[in-house]
Amino acid sequence: MDLHKLKLTRYILIAMVGGAIVGLALSQFVDFVVNPDTGKKFLDSNNRPVLEHSFLADYVINGLFQFLSEAFIRSLMALVVPLVFVSLVCGTAAMDDVRKLGTVGLKTILLYLATTGIAITIAIVAALLVKPGLGVGEIETQGYVPGETKSLLNVFIDIFPKNVSSAFVEGNMLQIIAAALVFGIALVVSGEHGQRVLRFFNDLNEIIMKLVIIVMLIAPLGVFAKIAQVFAKEGFDTIFALAKYFILVVAVLLIHAFVVYPVLLKIFTGMNPVNFFKKMRNAQLFAFSTASSNATIPVTLRAAEERLGAHNKIASFTVPLGATINMDGTAIMQGVATVFIAQISGIDLSITQYLMVILAATMASIGTAGVPSAGLVMLTMVLGLVGLPPDKIGLIIGIDRLLDMVRTAVNITGDATITCIVANSEGQLDKTVFNRPAEEETVG
Ligand code: ASP
Repeated sequence: MDLHKLKLTRYILIAMVGGAIVGLALSQFVDFVVNPDTGKKFLDSNNRPVLEHSFLADYVINGLFQFLSEAFIRSLMALVVPLVFVSLVCGTAAMDDVRKLGTVGLKTILLYLATTGIAITIAIVAALLVKPGLGVGEIETQGYVPGETKSLLNVFIDIFPKNVSSAFVEGNMLQIIAAALVFGIALVVSGEHGQRVLRFFNDLNEIIMKLVIIVMLIAPLGVFAKIAQVFAKEGFDTIFALAKYFILVVAVLLIHAFVVYPVLLKIFTGMNPVNFFKKMRNAQLFAFSTASSNATIPVTLRAAEERLGAHNKIASFTVPLGATINMDGTAIMQGVATVFIAQISGIDLSITQYLMVILAATMASIGTAGVPSAGLVMLTMVLGLVGLPPDKIGLIIGIDRLLDMVRTAVNITGDATITCIVANSEGQLDKTVFNRPAEEETVG
């Protein structure tokens, strides 16, 4: 089988549209479990609505679709830890000067924070202008149980693994990155022993990259099932009442993705943003359907290295780090949601409070895991900081799944943009690869 000739993007797009249509059609035939005490939709421990038992709900939506989408997402997730570790060990060992790691790291983190700061500032300004919370009719509030947030201090302490194997088992990305960096450095300074092990790691890296392609082949089926399930199950009935909020979040997400990133890319690398987007389409579709930057790491990394031409020594560090700490799309949702909730609650926030929101959300994005709905958990912290009631998150939870998909696609686009910028600044962006027409490329 020639893996290179497959037009995967086309199949995934068809699967997505098909999934949405099938899901919406199925949603007409299912009912939600209602909490008898509150009369509101009953939410499970993940804050998601629960369907009444029926053949469709039990065997199709929560049966077949659940199986296919879980199989797809788990296969992707299963690759993340070995891929990040092996690839980053190879990347670190390939650095001609290990001291460069410091500059690359600092540059990357500063750029990630700066783009998140820009994202949330645009979001707050846009929300203050559009006022999405005014004139909103009755909205069905769903009970929301705030999750636990992590303090920034603990985020930093948590970079250091107490036990490397538990870091692997838990998939703790920052600890895995730290362990890979140190191991890579140790390989370089171990002379002949290091070189022998490095050769093994380089081979392993090639094999894992091939595994990524193999998993990508089941994507159309997985994407179809996931999208159909989301559309059938979530019941976006509040979307109309929240249309202003919904459209505003999506509009700011699109502005950030299609204006801010291309401008940054053009200024800092001189490369053509249209080409960038063509090559990122696959990764964006994966992010959209999984709503997880983490699960998308294999596809983003592949796009960054093999399609955009960023060298492994940069991308193997910036992509997993970005998936873990860089969440521009999430910050945008949090900015709009904060203004929206303030307006709905009739609370006027001061300029200082908005500045605090910008700072808090930028910092919070570091602690937001790249998994579905993580942004909402962090929103609890941002709201609490400026004295807004966190339970008001129940207002927006009904449509957040859909927004989560869009913002995750933006999150990983940000990771890839910064990867190209940092790679270019280090002379590690292969412009021939970047400029090669997307149509001529492998898978997708
Ligand atoms: N799902 C997002 C991500 O994985 C995080 C969030 O905003 O909930 O990037």
